[in-house]
Amino acid sequence: MLIFKKVADLRQWLDSQSLPIGFAPTMGALHEGHLELIRMAKREGCVAVASIFVNPTQFNDPKDLEKYPRTPEKDAALLISAACDVLFIPSVEEVYPPGVNLTIDLDFKQLDKVMEGEFRPGHFKGMATVVNRLLDIVKPQRLYMGQKDYQQLSIVRDMIRQLALPVELVMCPTVREPDGLAMSSRNVRLSPAMRSAAPVIHQTLLWAKTALEQNRPVSEIQETAMGKLTEAGLRPEYFELVDGVTLEPIRPQGAILFMDETGMGGSIVACTAVFAGEVRLIDNLMLT
Ligand code: AMP
Repeated sequence: MLIFKKVADLRQWLDSQSLPIGFAPTMGALHEGHLELIRMAKREGCVAVASIFVNPTQFNDPKDLEKYPRTPEKDAALLISAACDVLFIPSVEEVYPPGVNLTIDLDFKQLDKVMEGEFRPGHFKGMATVVNRLLDIVKPQRLYMGQKDYQQLSIVRDMIRQLALPVELVMCPTVREPDGLAMSSRNVRLSPAMRSAAPVIHQTLLWAKTALEQNRPVSEIQETAMGKLTEAGLRPEYFELVDGVTLEPIRPQGAILFMDETGMGGSIVACTAVFAGEVRLIDNLMLT
């Protein structure tokens, strides 16, 4: 695997490639969820490029940025094990050259206002800015992102549409621990007690799926789910049932269902964010 720190060096190498480029942007502290993105890019015949960049502009909480786990040597070894071709690990100055304004300020309608948008102000603007910048550097044909961050993926899809970027977005299913906890770089920060409580997040999402199939009212599902998470010792911020494309909350009287080119229209996704001690975890499940 080649490792590049400079945009110019990476570009020179990528320009000599004939295969399509498959790109997986990450913030490091890698786990199986990240590696699946790389494996999928390889299976689909791409030159697999991973980036590791802890993007300061998407952290609304400076403590969260400071505590974000950083394990670059281990990450490189894991990427090699997944047959990754290139690791791009730039400095902040390389991504954001001083004096250059690269901020992405698009109107994402409600996509960046609900759920994470409500609880993490500025997060999605920073995320869209860095993804757009990295896409401009790497110029991949295919962009691999995880379903784990469903709202992020929905916003990136909309950004690609609005800017008419020549890249195909590929959604990779959420990779979970054997007990159902969604893999996350933040899981290493969980205390033993919180680690054993955390699988209730996935259990509650599964319960919500069954409850919806039994036609239980949406408001009752939400309330009960919040109760289940709280009883387990977690502090839920939200538990929302939303439309799979618009992320509009599903109202008790039912969603406006439609089919669209993403194939996600008319689907209902349950999304949740909880604090497990000091660690904030998010997860989601497609209910229909
Ligand atoms: P992060 O390093 O957390 O910013 O994540 C980088 C990419 O990996 C994003 O596209 C995430 O959605 C994806 N990802 C993170 N965790 C998982 C997981 N458990 N399963 C699948 N994809 C994941």
